[in-house]
Amino acid sequence: MRAGSTATWGRGLKPARFAYHAPNSLAEALSLLARYAGEARVLAGGQSLIPMMNFRIATPSAIIDLNCVPDLDYIRHEIDIVRIGGMTRQRKIEFSGVIAETLPLLRDAIKLVGHLPTRSRGTIGGSLAHADPAAELPMILQVLEGEVVARGAAGERVIKAGEFFRSPLTTALTPEEILIEVRFPVMPGNAGYAVEEFARRHGDFAICAVAAVLVREGERCVKARLATGGTGPVPLRLKAAEGVLERKGLGGASIEEAAEMAARTVEPMRDQNGSVEYRRHLTRVLTGRALRRAAEGRPR
Ligand SMILES: Cc1cc2nc3c(=O)[nH]c(=O)nc-3n(C[C@H](O)[C@H](O)[C@H](O)COP(=O)(O)OP(=O)(O)OC[C@H]3O[C@@H](n4cnc5c(N)ncnc54)[C@H](O)[C@@H]3O)c2cc1C
Repeated sequence: MRAGSTATWGRGLKPARFAYHAPNSLAEALSLLARYAGEARVLAGGQSLIPMMNFRIATPSAIIDLNCVPDLDYIRHEIDIVRIGGMTRQRKIEFSGVIAETLPLLRDAIKLVGHLPTRSRGTIGGSLAHADPAAELPMILQVLEGEVVARGAAGERVIKAGEFFRSPLTTALTPEEILIEVRFPVMPGNAGYAVEEFARRHGDFAICAVAAVLVREGERCVKARLATGGTGPVPLRLKAAEGVLERKGLGGASIEEAAEMAARTVEPMRDQNGSVEYRRHLTRVLTGRALRRAAEGRPR
């Protein structure tokens, strides 16, 4: 085989050369990130970063492995807030009694993220920081109005879900910040909720996903929250559709109107998985399904 073709082979299979660091503290991790001035990436579960490096979509000069940094893996319930450490594995969230009790929509959605082996390594912080437009957890951060805590050399800042996702694979985090915590308000005990997804196979990224939370008082809907993933560059709150439900209630006609509004609001991408019209159609159908299930209300 000619030398040139060997080189071409190698490029697609193995990552480019990089330095590896495994700091034992957050302070050390932050100082390493600062030293590499935007050229390093942190490693969490590696379920997205390592494939990207192998395909040389990402070619960082250095990897700062967070797996030896203590105190980033926890789930804490404090009155009306649940705090989840950035390095908490998706599987730990899936089986947490606290999450089942306080954030059942997150528990339902996380079952749709990849497969058992990927959830065993993948972290909540990694999924949010990676910001794949078709990922489920960014959509859940939006619909539950969560926020993330970022730590950098200058200290900590809190970023609300609506300000976090900027474009595909891009968030408000700077290259020198680490996502250390995710915060969710506890879901109201009487909330109805549902997540609906269309994917080619179970465990695949969503071609379209919709999550809904509804709080009703008698016939009135006092709070509606709807978000979608897979239908645009970033996960989106469907505020116009929420408004329809809060004004008109949860009858069949207003659910249909909200689903139609959701389909008109999204700005889908066209790719090998479907056309713009197909994704609008999925948005309409899945929004209707999610709302009907959420409106039935499911006791916890
Ligand atoms: C076969 C397969 C199927 C999958 N299916 C799905 C799916 O259906 N839905 C889905 O949502 N995902 C899916 N994934 C991706 C998976 O959920 C990943 O776990 C997730 O995208 C990234 O989490 P991670 O912890 O592995 O992060 P990593 O891969 O380690 O990191 C991802 C990116 O985030 C950055 N990062 C990680 N942690 C932090 C942090 N704390 N602070 C700042 N930056 C950080 C990294 O530098 C990197 O750029 C799949 C992956 C595989 C391999």
